[in-house]
Amino acid sequence: MKLNQTYKPVIGLEVHIELATNSKMFCGCPADHFGKKPNTQTCPVCLGLPGALPVPNKKAIDWCIMLGLALGCKINKYSTFDRKHYFYPDLPKGYQISQYDDPFCYEGKFEDIRIRRVHMEEDTAKLQHTEVNRKKVSLIDFNRSGVPLVELVTEPDFSDVDEVILFLQELQKIIRYLGISTADMEKGSMRLEANISLLLLGSEPNTGSEPVTLPNYKVELKNINSFRFLKKAMLYEIERQKDLLSNNKKIVQETRGWNEARSATVSQRIKEEAMDYRYFPEPDIPPIEVSDKDIKILSDKVPELPQTKRERFLEQYNLSKEYIEILVSDLTKANYFEEASKLSPDMAKTIANAMINQNLDKSYPEPAGLVKKLVELTKTDFSPTPEVGLAIKSVLVENPEVVKSYQNGKGQVVGFLIGQVQKILNGKGDPKQINTILLGKLHGN
Ligand SMILES: [Zn+2]
Repeated sequence: MKLNQTYKPVIGLEVHIELATNSKMFCGCPADHFGKKPNTQTCPVCLGLPGALPVPNKKAIDWCIMLGLALGCKINKYSTFDRKHYFYPDLPKGYQISQYDDPFCYEGKFEDIRIRRVHMEEDTAKLQHTEVNRKKVSLIDFNRSGVPLVELVTEPDFSDVDEVILFLQELQKIIRYLGISTADMEKGSMRLEANISLLLLGSEPNTGSEPVTLPNYKVELKNINSFRFLKKAMLYEIERQKDLLSNNKKIVQETRGWNEARSATVSQRIKEEAMDYRYFPEPDIPPIEVSDKDIKILSDKVPELPQTKRERFLEQYNLSKEYIEILVSDLTKANYFEEASKLSPDMAKTIANAMINQNLDKSYPEPAGLVKKLVELTKTDFSPTPEVGLAIKSVLVENPEVVKSYQNGKGQVVGFLIGQVQKILNGKGDPKQINTILLGKLHGN
């Protein structure tokens, strides 16, 4: 009997990221292929013509290493490219230049997730299945062939679908912060794959929370172009596998995609055994050496990452978690906010509010313009009651020395003056409002 058994999902990820370099990975053709006329950005190298020699793109390698560094990876001092063989029309050479034994980056850790490797390879051409003269045809566009592609592989450390999505969203932010790719899933610049299997809890001699051995199969979810669909596909797949396993059925090792219309994962390709890609070292590219100095230079180029920015925004501006998340999710917004807040540090919350709730950053392309507008708005907002105005006036008249010391640079005396005003008002009056009017008066407005 196998009733009420508990299964733990075991999920690992493979993510492909197309780099936004100017040129392709091994030739000088433009790398930006999206929406371009088919087969207009090709040359003998990326068409795989005999005798053409690949020359690695230094910037792409640097960016791959920077991503590895951002994910806590070790960097190989000595990396090699390898040929990965398989036959498919999107691969003109009959092999893809990739990395096998010595990837640029390995053994990283991001939060609780172990990163197995981050390596460099080239993208394939793009197949388009269509009709020409009422005949079904497959067309090949080689514009994408040879575009720099980074592959990131995690260990199967996820057991929760939401964790997977959070990780991927954070990864997307990191990639955008590094400025190495648009990481746009609809355009295929970031492609997600999840390997899923289920582990029967208690099936291991050691019944700790961590599985000792992994399940002996895995289903690969592939070709899914949004976080939302990936989440649905993973949830569906966990249920599908649970059903099969609880009915003593074997799960086929295969690749499945997501069919939104049917709200189900569907089989795409059955992989009984691991493919033999006949990897061997790429003889046309010498090994790449990366010195400690190179690593230092690249790690200095890694900018402040989203999590550090969140923590800093909380400490520096004391914004709500919700506001921080909105700003940090969009580097342009975060930078705009900081620039505006530098101009008027007291107004950080007002600035964030104006950006998030009123989209005022769109109306004022320059942060200074927004700050100016907000200062005006605050001024008109503070139409003081006659009592407040009178109290301030009399305090200023009665304390000429204090006013003078303020004008000589002693900003801290403002607190004293506010106290005096509140005294006259018997503790009434909003200190913030008093502060604003008082400062206005002290500055001769
Ligand atoms: Zn080319």
